[in-house]
Amino acid sequence: MAQHHRLSPSARDINVLTVQGLTDLEIATLFAKWRWDSEDKQACTSCGTLDTHYPRRRRRRISRRPASSAIGPNTGNPSWQCKHCYAVFSLTSGTIFDSTKLSLRLILLGAVIMLTSGNGTSAVAAMQALGVSYKTAFLMLHRFREVMALDQPTEPIKGIAQMDGGYFCGKPRKSNVHRPATRSQMMNRYGKQPMPGELKPWEQAGMSYRNWMKKRNKRVVLAVTDSSGGRGEGSRSVMVAVAQMGETELNVRSMAARHVAPGAMIWTDEAGAYNQLGRDYEHYAVSHAERYVDPEGVTDNHCESFFSRLRRAEYGVYHGFRPVNLHFYACEAAWRHTHRRLSKRAQVDRLMSGVLQAALSTRLRGYHAGKGIRTEILID
Ligand SMILES: [Zn+2]
Repeated sequence: MAQHHRLSPSARDINVLTVQGLTDLEIATLFAKWRWDSEDKQACTSCGTLDTHYPRRRRRRISRRPASSAIGPNTGNPSWQCKHCYAVFSLTSGTIFDSTKLSLRLILLGAVIMLTSGNGTSAVAAMQALGVSYKTAFLMLHRFREVMALDQPTEPIKGIAQMDGGYFCGKPRKSNVHRPATRSQMMNRYGKQPMPGELKPWEQAGMSYRNWMKKRNKRVVLAVTDSSGGRGEGSRSVMVAVAQMGETELNVRSMAARHVAPGAMIWTDEAGAYNQLGRDYEHYAVSHAERYVDPEGVTDNHCESFFSRLRRAEYGVYHGFRPVNLHFYACEAAWRHTHRRLSKRAQVDRLMSGVLQAALSTRLRGYHAGKGIRTEILID
């Protein structure tokens, strides 16, 4: 039997010790390669000229306070002055880590720690491993997630696609005591509607306010997998989007149009929203009431396998998602699933070059200044 890919030597070809063994210069060289694909030439962030610009010396320290090892002036982040427009820029200028106070080593360690865990890394775990505050760790991980969200495959699937929806964020807790039916439930039972405005919506539902909010937070993650590979290979890639109102004809159609080439084959379960796919695609559904795989091989198990990863992350790692962040957690799980067979070094390369190509996020801007994350990303 072939070895599991997570047990192979390539799954551990970079770890925290490898990063700690590198000098500041070696780390800066790695960052330069990821950003500009060159060790000695830099592209000016202002005018874009690729050249060997003037290296700037670090300013002499004036403060008498000792520099902390992680945060402070010694960040190992070199800067240059452009030969043409004289603009000053560093390795992280204009990227998602623009004007960061973190050292390059810490950012790289964060990426390695995030990618060495199977289903996700919580900010508390990263905080303890890196010795930074919770907010710093949370923001760093969310920046990585934004990069993963930008790195979703764009090529439409031409062979076989599987499609399904999984429900996240809102699962009401079972109540401690079994209460007798509430007044509104009794009214419903005996055919009398409660007077309007008499009961709060959560009272009408027979729930506590907290539990009712949990139900209101329910979102569906729509997943499309490229299942054109051979038997036993699993999905080649996973694409996700979050919708508010469950699997509807509208968002199913939009998801299919985005990720599946016209005329391709789509396998789903028997949810009603998928029936219309037969118009533009070759659509087959497996009846989950009877079996998971049809005798002809029709199944949506690749989607279920992805949802299992996201569910494990929800329950076991993050202990719950807020709807406002769900898109990014789903994209993180999809990224991990799509690139699960890459070596660890290749995963770090891919993530870090994404980090250094991505622009500063408007969504996370002002997080340290107390501005909360408010924009929820939903499928249109
Ligand atoms: Zn310039």
